[in-house]
Amino acid sequence: MAKPVILTVDDDPEVLRAVERDLRQKYGGIFRVMRESSGEKALELLKQLKLRSEAVALLLVDQRMPNMTGVEFLTQAIPLFPEAKRVLLTAYADTDAAIQAINSVKIDYYLMKPWDPPEEHLYPVLQDLLDDWLANYRPAFLGVRVIGHQWSAPSHQIKDFLARNQIPYRWLDIESSQDAQVLIEHAGLDASRLPVILFPDGSNLVAPTNALLAEKVGLKTHAGKPFYDLIIVGAGPAGLAGAVYGASEGLRTLLIEREASGGQAGTSSRIENYLGFPVGLSGGDLAHRAVAQASRFGVEILVPQEVTSLRVEDPYRYVKLTDGTEISCHAMIIATGVSYRKLDVPGMDRLTGAGVYYGAAMTEALSCRDQDVYIVGGANSAGQAAMYFSKYAGHVTMLVRADSLAKSMSQYLIDQISATENITVRTEVSVTEVQGESSLESITLTHAATGEVETVPATALFIFIGAMPRTEWVDGVVQRDAQGFILSGNALLHNGRRPAGWTLDRDPFLLESSVPGIFVAGDVRFGSVKRVASGVGEGSIAVSFVHQYLSGVK
Ligand SMILES: Cc1cc2nc3c(=O)[nH]c(=O)nc-3n(C[C@H](O)[C@H](O)[C@H](O)COP(=O)(O)OP(=O)(O)OC[C@H]3O[C@@H](n4cnc5c(N)ncnc54)[C@H](O)[C@@H]3O)c2cc1C
Repeated sequence: MAKPVILTVDDDPEVLRAVERDLRQKYGGIFRVMRESSGEKALELLKQLKLRSEAVALLLVDQRMPNMTGVEFLTQAIPLFPEAKRVLLTAYADTDAAIQAINSVKIDYYLMKPWDPPEEHLYPVLQDLLDDWLANYRPAFLGVRVIGHQWSAPSHQIKDFLARNQIPYRWLDIESSQDAQVLIEHAGLDASRLPVILFPDGSNLVAPTNALLAEKVGLKTHAGKPFYDLIIVGAGPAGLAGAVYGASEGLRTLLIEREASGGQAGTSSRIENYLGFPVGLSGGDLAHRAVAQASRFGVEILVPQEVTSLRVEDPYRYVKLTDGTEISCHAMIIATGVSYRKLDVPGMDRLTGAGVYYGAAMTEALSCRDQDVYIVGGANSAGQAAMYFSKYAGHVTMLVRADSLAKSMSQYLIDQISATENITVRTEVSVTEVQGESSLESITLTHAATGEVETVPATALFIFIGAMPRTEWVDGVVQRDAQGFILSGNALLHNGRRPAGWTLDRDPFLLESSVPGIFVAGDVRFGSVKRVASGVGEGSIAVSFVHQYLSGVK
């Protein structure tokens, strides 16, 4: 972490060098001593330090400078670093100005030049001031900062992307954070164009795409080679498990992920039933561990990068990415899971991301502190979200279409929910409309039994109503069921007949699709058990079939 700064400003080069030398000698171990030859240059430097979140402990400034006096400089420097100690260097003739400055810019001290010997005239004064500053100093957050509006869809999307890719950031709401406004102004940006992302090196991005942001924070979005033994599409539990097993067994493996490693599981606040974690673990933690493990074995991971189509030219399988590049392989595992089903009621399109969210419990929970939160859905994912929000929100209301939670939720969660005072479960109700100008203001509920309609004020609505596979990109190549789930193994055999176009003299392996060498694992597979452990199991089993398939590829 950068040392706090002591900045000295003087237009006389000789004096400036002398002050700098004396300061370095005594304080160089703890502080970074910097110098500037004018007030203007010093202000520019302070703006840069502010943008980089660095701390300034002391401003030691000459009063008599040609274009900007010491007092004028301090007047402009105070809003940037109000906590910095302020010392004016004066000649005898400036004593009056210095005394006035005690009132006008609250200087902490004025020093008469010359100060030799420093042990007597300089250090005792500065030491007192620096001790005082250090006692109150709290190191600043030095990571990525996101400035935006709380109820704005693009701001939510950026926060969600960073959080799910495990990139720590600090959120600054432009309406409530003074720091946010100062930072925007000093970066020379326009507060009407948000979100703004500020980086520790002082650079920024305004409303960037995920791809641009990914590149800036060091995620890899382009493949290093044109060909791999194994390409895995989707980095949820199934894809990550396949990647770990594939690479650890010597396959050159590429893992391609559209949003963030961890998949759906990565959005789960607490997975309580995964073997080996008796007190549960968060989806983010599981994803983080799996990515580290896969990387250790040499898996290349592209995030964010979407596979948009697939073609087969034996013995190669080709995937095309959003940016148009094509990468080839001998074997593939499709592990693209399922995506949230959309709630199709009036107002949803406009307010999604602005008070209405799909599965964003972890990202938005802190912004919902002490508020009333509504959750739509009655399965485990909705239950976990309700438990998570109950720690932050004032009250959580679950809106469930069925007449009880028992049909769709595990008993352990039902027990936790009924024992939590600030959660209410309302059954047999559906959300039929959402309203609000720029963000959610109210929701309309319809009661199934009575047909009664009521509109209640609401600022936060989270939706967990099941999911569908998104597999249009394999259309015409790999066989799917009517909902889009990919068929594999025995499900492809009709009265013992192999699928159309099947060329090999054997039946498809257990997790093999209708195209030899293309395997499917996890939630996207027809007939799969939708659980983290089963996805992990299928991903790893698929690799053993990949080996068997590759042994026959010429
Ligand atoms: C909130 C929540 C809580 C849950 N809690 C539990 C729990 O406690 N216990 C449990 O066992 N299960 C739980 N589940 C279910 C579990 O998360 C899923 O069964 C599991 O994540 C499925 O893993 P998967 O790898 O098959 O797919 P996913 O996790 O869905 O991952 C698929 C990945 O593929 C990516 N992708 C999709 N299409 C493309 C493309 N074209 N190109 C590139 N990438 C693509 C997606 O972005 C996604 O990251 C929960 C689910 C949710 C949503």
